[in-house]
Amino acid sequence: MFFERLDQGYQKGTIDPKLEIELNKKMSKAMAEIRKEIKSGQCFYCGKSVDSFCNSHNIPRFCLRNIGSDGEVVGPNAILGLPKMGVSMGKENLGINESGTFSLICRECDSVLFQDYENPSNYELDKKPSQKMLAQIALKNYLKFIYKRKLEIALLEHSVKQLPNNDPVYALTREEFATKLKVSKLDLGTYTSDYERAKKAVEFGKGPGYYMFYYRKLDYVTPIAIQAPITVSIDLEGNIVNDVFNLRPGFHPYDLHLCVLPLESETAIILFVENEDVRYRKFRKQFGKLDEESKLGLINYLIFLYTEDYFMAKEIHNKIDLQILNETVNRMPVIWNTSPIKDTKMLGVKFNLSNWPSIPNLLSEEYKLR
Ligand SMILES: [Zn+2]
Repeated sequence: MFFERLDQGYQKGTIDPKLEIELNKKMSKAMAEIRKEIKSGQCFYCGKSVDSFCNSHNIPRFCLRNIGSDGEVVGPNAILGLPKMGVSMGKENLGINESGTFSLICRECDSVLFQDYENPSNYELDKKPSQKMLAQIALKNYLKFIYKRKLEIALLEHSVKQLPNNDPVYALTREEFATKLKVSKLDLGTYTSDYERAKKAVEFGKGPGYYMFYYRKLDYVTPIAIQAPITVSIDLEGNIVNDVFNLRPGFHPYDLHLCVLPLESETAIILFVENEDVRYRKFRKQFGKLDEESKLGLINYLIFLYTEDYFMAKEIHNKIDLQILNETVNRMPVIWNTSPIKDTKMLGVKFNLSNWPSIPNLLSEEYKLR
């Protein structure tokens, strides 16, 4: 969780073990305090006061169960190897109950808002995800990301308060914290307006709606589950899709929603964008020209290049050494520099999609769970 911001400078094996222990201690303490502070309040969706929020799952629980064993799945930190930092995402193996969860809405809302897309029977036979299901996915994606940013902002504010100037334990200067805070708040604003649009679509079927440009059901179960919005920077021909280094107020990145949902004996893969969005037009065309196996390969690459919201089956260890993915996952966006990178050339190198065949394709039949 929020590793994409806080892991800066902490690469696997580069951190002094003593420092790591200290860092874990400080972070765990801070997280415990923050969690207590934000444990109760008003449901972000309906506004009702609650004593404790629902432990909502971003990736539906039934999908995680379909790849879990002994009630556990493998998290991204099995690849990243970052310090635990007192967050569940710091673990290599996570209980399904703590995998990709957020606490922002009440139980009632959680039980009704997502029920269409969380119903396995809606993926049976020739059924295709409905507009409503897509809106529910978008809504949940943004709730999760709003929660992440809120937690991150609380933690940054907490850390700034605690931090004597240039505390080496955090290896971050006050200035860096301030920049991170600014970026997190900008992000929160963006996610909130995306959430509002999804909310209207869920409630009233209003707004531009969503365009599902890819839906495929595999007749096997993949060892990986994911549900996340990603902000694609560069398309397959090197054109800019979203200039993520552009922090100008008013700039609004557009997301591609990516889902790999393992079912009992199949897997549903869904890619969609907002209907009115023209930024993905070229990307969609390029994607459409790929053969079926390459499409899966590219989706697989997008997962590791852009997200940290995936979970894998433990059996994956028998098939590949996860470290092979380390280089790809370490290309996460770095946008909180005090002088934001404007160099589009660098953006092109970092997010070059032509490397997709270089990593194992966990969506291919070769790696199927069953
Ligand atoms: Zn509610």
